[in-house]
Amino acid sequence: MSIIHVVSVSGGKDSAATLLIALLRFGKHRVRAIFCDTGNEHQAVYAYLDYLEDLLGLPIHRLRADFTERFAVHRARLEAIAAGGPDYHPTAKFQWTVERAAQAAALMHPTGNPFLDLCLLKGIFPSHGRQFCTEELKRNPAVEFQMDLVDQGYSVVSWQGVRRDESARRRDVRRFERIAPRMYAYRPIVDWTADAVFGFLAQHGIAPNPLYLQGMDRVGCMPCINVGKSELRQIASRFPEHIQRIAEWEKLVNEVSRSGKASFLFSGGWERIHERVEWAQTSYGGRQYDLLSDLEEPSACASSYGLCDSGVAA
Ligand code: SF4
Repeated sequence: MSIIHVVSVSGGKDSAATLLIALLRFGKHRVRAIFCDTGNEHQAVYAYLDYLEDLLGLPIHRLRADFTERFAVHRARLEAIAAGGPDYHPTAKFQWTVERAAQAAALMHPTGNPFLDLCLLKGIFPSHGRQFCTEELKRNPAVEFQMDLVDQGYSVVSWQGVRRDESARRRDVRRFERIAPRMYAYRPIVDWTADAVFGFLAQHGIAPNPLYLQGMDRVGCMPCINVGKSELRQIASRFPEHIQRIAEWEKLVNEVSRSGKASFLFSGGWERIHERVEWAQTSYGGRQYDLLSDLEEPSACASSYGLCDSGVAA
């Protein structure tokens, strides 16, 4: 029975280290690298994937969720409501009006950006309590890729670069487990620290993603819906174009939503991204402007991992 080792690469340090371990142990012919592209990524992530491919001599398969069929179904529902039919979700907090349904139906076409398309379909953005982005944009494309290999007769080991000290939720994560017939999960760095990961990469001549040197605690969506206050401030300061893109997405999603109140960073109210950025400039629960934070120099190294101090960075 042949085994294929599939490594999910995110553009961050942990998955880069995990890919390297897999290659050192099993070689290129038994390893497949995948990247689930949410469409809400910083360009540095794509550049880093290219860098890893060149350095390691291995293609990284880019996977993007495609919602075209779901758009057609949703558009048909909206057209039916716009023609006077009943709302398909009569208990929802907000109801479609004929006018809003007609507007949404006219706009309900895929853009080709997975993150935006998912939000257009749902009429909301994901949030900490409804984190459907992870499942739909990352988990499902990865599982589909792996199931194709199982269908071809392989057993699949899914390598995941997670560490127990990342969060309380990951504290008890297992190193190895069977997740389905002929599918296993393997997490080789569960007990590593962030420093150990950076050290391992440096030892093998692999530079970390430059985003770590620009104030990002983690590499993933830009921004993530779970972004913290200081990281949001860093993003607004260093990459304002991504904040502007989110503001444009909010406008589009609101044009096709029931409520017209969708916001990227759910805060319990209906504040839009620019208001959240303004809040991120404040201290003491958002009541006072934090003058020191405004003095931060965007071009300075603000890495929370102290890479420049440790000399890891290239
Ligand atoms: S990184 Fe954040 S926004 Fe992106 S898929 Fe994961 S939880 Fe969602």
